[in-house]
Amino acid sequence: MKMNRISTDDVHNITSGQVIIEIKSLVKELLENSIDANSTVISITFKKYGLEGIEILDNGDGISNEDFNNICLKNYTSKLEKFENLISVKTLGFRGEALNSICNISDIVITTSIATEAPKGWELTFKKSGELLNKKMVNQSKGTCVKITEIFKDLPVRKLNFEKMYRKEFQKCIDMLISYLIILTNVRILVTNIDISGKKKVVLKTSGNKKIKDNIINVYGSSGLDGLTEIDKSLELNNDYMVKMNGMISKASFGDGRLTKDRQFIFINNRPVEYKKLLKLINETYKKMNYLQNPVIMLNFKINENLLDINVTPDKRTILLSNKFEKLLFEKIVIFLEDFWYNGGTYSLPFN
Ligand code: ADP
Ligand code: MG
Repeated sequence: MKMNRISTDDVHNITSGQVIIEIKSLVKELLENSIDANSTVISITFKKYGLEGIEILDNGDGISNEDFNNICLKNYTSKLEKFENLISVKTLGFRGEALNSICNISDIVITTSIATEAPKGWELTFKKSGELLNKKMVNQSKGTCVKITEIFKDLPVRKLNFEKMYRKEFQKCIDMLISYLIILTNVRILVTNIDISGKKKVVLKTSGNKKIKDNIINVYGSSGLDGLTEIDKSLELNNDYMVKMNGMISKASFGDGRLTKDRQFIFINNRPVEYKKLLKLINETYKKMNYLQNPVIMLNFKINENLLDINVTPDKRTILLSNKFEKLLFEKIVIFLEDFWYNGGTYSLPFN
């Protein structure tokens, strides 16, 4: 058997496909870009559940002229300092990959304007490789609009799957978006869908709240707070490290009556993450007090970046904590929660 090196183009096609496996990942990447650009208003529009495209408009910093050639090139990023709020720099392993991958699997048009140029801006189109194809001057207020169409155009199997399962894929996007709407404070987010008949409907909306509590009301309605208490607690791991835990959680006596677990979110340093082990631990602890219901869990953990490895998967949603610290943290969480639930929420803050 003779081995051949795969061509650079093929490598590009293969690895791009891995970052954007489903439209959920595409929407997540675009949303994170808008958040990183310091936007306070973000609007996401699905055209026919994404079948005809997705558009995301923000009022963020915009992109300046000198960067136009590089925006969609692989490994070009402007985030060496800016990203700290969401995640530390060194954990951003696949930086500068998202737009390049999106270019590779779909058509993309970016309109953007920076503060000093608004209301004039630029409309940019790109080649499949990510190179800038064309730019023209247009009217655009400060911020960026990314329009994606022809999703999975050269990937027939993935495209067919998406067309068959579009309602399910759309729902996955909404579930993912909910986690961001809950954790993001001081940002107004609007998610709409233009349905098959052409009607525009609001799917999700937050109003720039300062507190997670108010985001929950925006997402689930005021009954979304039923049985929840606020948590704001520092857990001391050892002399060097402290973990801050804050958010909302069910009372022992008043869990989620729907018996589903779709209102359980863990965030680390304000980033939604998949941390099944931690959710399992909290669920098991809750069951000791209330074995009939499931708790609503919306907890953010502020953890020193030295203790984290976020670079486990391209989408950065899987988190690894070193074994030693994970064990310590889990012990502290159980001690705190047992006391909290047994004593009816001694540590909870009163609502204000
Ligand atoms: P990364 O986010 O890892 O830097 P991306 O491919 O997602 O890589 O984006 C590449 C670059 O394009 C970003 O670093 C940023 O400078 C710019 N960019 C993308 N989207 C936006 C946006 N909505 N507003 C401002 N700049 C953006
Ligand atoms: Mg990005």
